[in-house]
Amino acid sequence: MTLRRPLEQLYREFDYAGRVGLDAIRFPLRYAEPRDRELVGLLTACLAYGRVDLFGRQLEGVLVAMEPSPTAFVAGFDPRRDAPALAGFRYRFNRPPDLVAFCVAAREVLARWGTLEKCFVAGDPAAGGPIGPALERFARAFLEADLREVFPRGRLSRGYRHLFPLPSAGGPCKRLHLFLRWMVRREPPDFGLWTSVSPARLLIPVDTHVENMSRAIGLTRRRSRTWRMAEEITAALARVDPADPVKFDFALCHKRMSGECRDRRDASICTPCGLKDVCRHWRRARHER
Ligand code: SF4
Repeated sequence: MTLRRPLEQLYREFDYAGRVGLDAIRFPLRYAEPRDRELVGLLTACLAYGRVDLFGRQLEGVLVAMEPSPTAFVAGFDPRRDAPALAGFRYRFNRPPDLVAFCVAAREVLARWGTLEKCFVAGDPAAGGPIGPALERFARAFLEADLREVFPRGRLSRGYRHLFPLPSAGGPCKRLHLFLRWMVRREPPDFGLWTSVSPARLLIPVDTHVENMSRAIGLTRRRSRTWRMAEEITAALARVDPADPVKFDFALCHKRMSGECRDRRDASICTPCGLKDVCRHWRRARHER
């Protein structure tokens, strides 16, 4: 049994409208203006570790402070004047100075490049190659911004560094890949704003749900969530759709997150599942047929 038919069916028939409101993408989706959408997309993706409802509650307060235009807020950001508006922020590793640093770095990046897309493209001279080096330069634009206004001794906080994982460290960089998926993929639920980057170059944002689903249907056998795992899963998906391998991410992630898959054999849940014929949890049952 090949993966093509069941995966394409999952992609085609998935209830996107019913799940988008529960996904982190709902935050950038609120903004019609493309520059607001990419800025809020990046901020949302940077904070997208842990449950959406938990970081979302904190992010809501930040977005209120940035009203009516997050881009204008950042472009005119003055830490002395504007940092108090972010003072209530608390989320796991992150504290208000991390958000102040984000705004200062974004102010610098946007003043230099105009848009986040142009910043990314400037670090992507070999457009068409692997996405890793370009993503590394993009993350470094934020890590190497002049942040002395926020960190006078020149040492970045742990929380700020956590916002921008580097591909060269070997981790999956799920949040950066998620941001790219939102910006680059041309079909809903993604935005297709970054037309200068091909969807064929994206890597899948691997979180615990995608990891579980990928192992269940044989996209990877790796045990640890790394950049290599993201590459391996994406390569398997590219055999189904080389032009847009990451298109399956939303449906795979939400199928597991919603409880529609329990990552184990469960007749009541699995019977209607279109992936059953390729699922390792049903392998023995198939061989016994
Ligand atoms: S058959 Fe069951 S365990 Fe396998 S992917 Fe479908 S819902 Fe998940």
